[in-house]
Order: sequence, then C-alpha cells, then structure tokens
Amino acid sequence: MPNSSSKIAASADTTESRTRGPPVNNGGLSLWQQNTRSYSNLEANRNALLPSESKYVVIGSGIAGGLLTHKLIQAGVPGEDILLLEAREAASGASSRNAGHVRPDAFRGFETYAEHHGKEQALKILANERVVLEKVNQFVRQHDVPCDFNYTTTLECCMTPEFAGYERRNYDAFRRAGGDLSHVKHYTGEEAAEKTGIAGVVEAYEWPAGSSHPAKLAQWLLDAVIDKGVRLYTYCPVVRVTADKSSVKHHSIPSPLWDVQTPRGTIRAVKVVYCTNAFTGHLLPQLAPHIVPYRGQAHAIVPVPALTGSKMLRSTYSLRYSLNHYYSIIQRQSDGTVILGCSLPNPKLPEEVIRGVRTTDDTQFNKAIKDDALRHFEAFFPDMGIDHAVYGEGLAHAWNGIVGLTSDEVPFLGPVDGKPGQFVCAGFNGHGMARIFTSAPGVAKLILGRPWAETGLPECFRFSQARLDKLTSSLKVATKSKM
Ligand SMILES: Cc1cc2nc3c(=O)[nH]c(=O)nc-3n(C[C@H](O)[C@H](O)[C@H](O)COP(=O)(O)OP(=O)(O)OC[C@H]3O[C@@H](n4cnc5c(N)ncnc54)[C@H](O)[C@@H]3O)c2cc1C
Repeated sequence: MPNSSSKIAASADTTESRTRGPPVNNGGLSLWQQNTRSYSNLEANRNALLPSESKYVVIGSGIAGGLLTHKLIQAGVPGEDILLLEAREAASGASSRNAGHVRPDAFRGFETYAEHHGKEQALKILANERVVLEKVNQFVRQHDVPCDFNYTTTLECCMTPEFAGYERRNYDAFRRAGGDLSHVKHYTGEEAAEKTGIAGVVEAYEWPAGSSHPAKLAQWLLDAVIDKGVRLYTYCPVVRVTADKSSVKHHSIPSPLWDVQTPRGTIRAVKVVYCTNAFTGHLLPQLAPHIVPYRGQAHAIVPVPALTGSKMLRSTYSLRYSLNHYYSIIQRQSDGTVILGCSLPNPKLPEEVIRGVRTTDDTQFNKAIKDDALRHFEAFFPDMGIDHAVYGEGLAHAWNGIVGLTSDEVPFLGPVDGKPGQFVCAGFNGHGMARIFTSAPGVAKLILGRPWAETGLPECFRFSQARLDKLTSSLKVATKSKM
C-alpha cells in the first residue's frame, strides 16, 4: 500500500535506547494530536510562575488525570485547590496516541487473570471492563462530549486454529466459573468469514464495544476542570516528590507534607496523585520493576473505495494470531479514516525490533512495524483493490506512544503505602480505555477517604506493598529459572 506522505519515511527511527525516566521532550505527534493543534489549553501556563503550594497536586494530564480531577470536583473539592502538572503539552501521553478502541475484553484473558489473581478476581476484572464501556457511553452522552464516540460491536477474529482453541478454552473456563456471556456471539466456518469479511479468519466472536477520538476526550476533560478553577501547568515535568521538611507554617494548607519538585519550582502539597501511567516508576521507584514502559504503534489509513461510504466497516476489529501477535482496526465513522493498531512485542518481527519497543522514546515510528502492519492489513482485505490505491489513499500517518505494562496485568490504584497522602492511578497495560472510566473515579473516592468497597473495583487492582513484594519474589523466581 503506498504512503500518501513522503515525510513519513524520513521520520522512521533506527535506534531506541531509553527505558526509564520522564517523557522525552521531543515526542512526535499522533493523528489525534495533528488534528487538534487548535486546542486552546495545549500549552496552558507554559511560562507562568508556579504557585508554592496546593492542597492537591495531580501529576499527568491524560484521561486518567483529567477524569480523576473531574471526579474530585464533582465530589465537592474546589477546583482552585487542585494543580494539574504535565511534563509536555496537554494530554500528550498515550491518551492522545492510542488506537481509538474502547474495547472491553469479554472473556479473553480469563485464564491469565485467574493464574495471577484467582478465578473470583478474574471474573471481576472482565465484568469491570463491560461496566467501563457503559460508563464511557453514559459520560459522553450526558456531557455531550464531542469525541466521535461510536458505540458499536467489535469482532474478535481468531486467525489461527491454535488461537481459536485458546479462545474456546477461555470462553469455556469463563462460563464454567459463572461469567456472563449473554452479550457474546460466536461464529465459526462460513459464518465467521461472512460476518467479519476477513480473509483467513478461523472463528470469530462479537460483543459490544466502541471507538473514540481519544485526544478530544482527554482535552474535553481538561477544559471541564479548568472551567471549575483547576490550574493546568504544561511543560512542567515533576522530577521528584519528597517529604516536606520545612518548619515554615503555611496559611492555606494546615499540614503540608510533600514537596513536588519541578525545574520551574517546588510545590508543597497535602495530596499528590500519580496519573503518570508508563512513567510512574520514575517518580515511585518501587513501581519501576512493575510498571514497565513499552512503545506501541498505530497507523492512519485513508481507505480505498471498497472501504468508503456505505461500504465502511461498522464494527471494530481485533485480529489475533496469538496472544502477543495481533492487530486492531477501527474505522472512524466521521471521516472514514482507518486506524490500524498492533501488538507491542510482535514475536514475528526481528529480535532488534522487539527489543526496541522497550523504551520511553515516542519520537518516531518504527518502519519494520509499519511495514508488517500494512502487509497484514492487505492480507485481511485481499479483494479490496488496495494494490490499485491512488495517490492520497493509503498510509496517511504512523505514530507511537508509551504504554505501561504491569507484571500482573492489572493497574495499580490507591494509596501508596508508607507515603500518607500519595495516591497512584497507573499501569493500564495498553488497555486504559477499557479501565480508566472506573479506575480514576475509584481512586478519587479513595483520595476523599472512602473505603475500597465503595469503588466497586476488583480488589487485585489495589496498590499495596504486599502486592509489590509478591511480584518482586515472582520476578526473582523467573530470573533464576532463566539462568
Ligand atoms: C499506540 C497506542 C495504542 C493504544 N491503543 C489503545 C486502544 O486502542 N485501546 C485502549 O484501551 N488503550 C490503548 N492504548 C493505551 C491507552 O492509550 C492508555 O492505557 C491510556 O491512555 C492511559 O491513560 P493515562 O492517563 O493513564 O496515561 P497517559 O495518557 O500516558 O498520561 C500520563 C501523562 O503523565 C505525564 N507525565 C508522566 N510523567 C510525568 C512527570 N514526571 N511529570 C509530569 N507529567 C508526567 C505524561 O506526559 C502523560 O501526559 C494505546 C496506547 C498506545 C501508545
């Protein structure tokens, strides 16, 4: 498939080295960022003086930071009491770089979750994702958020008999454990091919899911809280958070506890919230081994006529060869653009490409990953005349962003043990759109002193030193067994 932009080849990367640290300051732009350059708070308070204190400091202006702040305000916290700090331009992390899917998993992952957390938690993890889709839908409709949200269905396409077997096993195990599958349809043989339109599909499943313009959603959240008095400081990376040792008494804060240090000054705060996803280990080193940054990549394609107008794809897709080798497709109903995502460490790619995605560097896309993704896209739709694409059709843009993978596949939420007043809401495993809309409101409740039970979240999402200790010892065992 031809590139419609010759600049793309010029920006393809060759080296990646960063595996830790804060976001790089020269991140490239996603499609979503490219077409929202007019966003008025993009560089909010970029050059303004920082206040010296604030009751609440939320670090990270992605969907987690924005939604959590929104929920604090809805619960009665005055917006003026909250500072939102962002290392780069507003919402410039994964939230504005993703593949646009708001896609709960229906049963896939059950075995893995059960292995890590037991069957009961595995059921709760998957049930929570279903709730998230409804929460996003309600939120977008209630507030009339112009983020192109499309509530539809998703087609999970098993592209190999092995993966079809894996899916059936998970489906059966989930059902046997009491999981609800009433919303899931299963297609085999001819019916799978007909329903999905995908060449080579072995079996398929269908259930409700959605897609959105993620940057518009993130930006709407920021606007909503700024309207209520929250101050967002962009280009203000937090370098460390330390205990406030000063004996100075502050007027507006009864007991300042934490010094939030940035190159632009230090802010004393009572409550500090890390909505820093993949970058959390930089500020909370105890999480560094357990929220690991990986670089994901996505592509925007201007479709050929066979995928335009009345022939557009109405459902979203996940096309899987194995657990770690898959592609995702959404077609934007507003303009027809196809967004093609892909798995992070695709085992079919050369070793150096696989190693390269273990990075915090989101400056440039990877050419080998782009070529592989386009090759597969063509294979999924072989009869569409993609070979005859005219200039302007084909790849319009490729970009990447950093996701935070956790060792036990679920996020870290809640108070940080040993650091009273600090909270974390991070580690969304490249799957935040199916988790943040219950996680961030849950952490907002915990910040306001409500008990975990009121969050309605699976208990295994909770941050605790005991969870870290368990993960550390299993990491040690894994390292030993590799020796
Ligand atoms: C290519 C790609 C495709 C994806 N596709 C999907 C998908 O289709 N569906 C899905 O559910 N999920 C997808 N994801 C994952 C999803 O985007 C994330 O799970 C979600 O956006 C996480 O939101 P967040 O607010 O926690 O993190 P982010 O959006 O990353 O926000 C964290 C913010 O914290 C800031 N920050 C970090 N450190 C500091 C610091 N020290 N000081 C100040 N600010 C700091 C960052 O700059 C960033 O803006 C994808 C991700 C990528 C990269």
